[in-house]
This record gives sequence, structure tokens and C-alpha cells, in this order.
Amino acid sequence: MSAVPCVGCGWCCLNDQCRESHILHGYQKRCPELYWDDAALRYACRLAADPVRGEEFRFLLAIGEGCCARFNTWREDVRNRDRID
Ligand code: SF4
Ligand code: SF4
Repeated sequence: MSAVPCVGCGWCCLNDQCRESHILHGYQKRCPELYWDDAALRYACRLAADPVRGEEFRFLLAIGEGCCARFNTWREDVRNRDRID
């Protein structure tokens, strides 16, 4: 099944810490590299903008290659799920 554009819903990272995060941080309940971008209104990965290894991380994490979870319902409801209102 082909990928669809990533809308930054955060579902993938909040549900399954990736390999690079495991290597850097060990097992965590929540990946410390994931953040809610208040300007873009979507989740993003700090590793993608790393000044030294950003390009490598973007390649390793397939950032920019789209989303494989097209039926994930979070895609239709993108919001900050870390915020407790
Ligand atoms: S749209 Fe897909 S790839 Fe993007 S954050 Fe959500 S689940 Fe992950
Ligand atoms: S390091 Fe980036 S891609 Fe990996 S789980 Fe954390 S936020 Fe997601």
C-alpha cells in the first residue's frame, strides 16, 4: 500500500518509540525527541533538525517519505495529545 502525506498527528511516535530513539535514550514511556510544534500545529521530531546528524536521521527515519498508517484515525484529528485541558 502506498504512503500518504504525513500530517504530524504523532500516532506513530507516541505509540512506538523508534530505533534511533532507543539507541539514544533507551526505552522510554514517551520519546523525548517528539514535540508539538505550536506554529505548524503538528508533531515533529527534534532529530530531523539536528545540526550535525539531521540529514542522517532524516534518512534513517524516512522522514519526508510519508505515512504508512493511512487508516489511523488520529490523522483526521491532529492535536496536541500531551496537553491536559
Ligand atoms: S501522519 Fe502518519 S507518519 Fe505522520 S505522525 Fe501521524 S502516524 Fe506518524
Ligand atoms: S526519535 Fe523522532 S522519529 Fe523516533 S520516535 Fe522520537 S520523535 Fe519519533
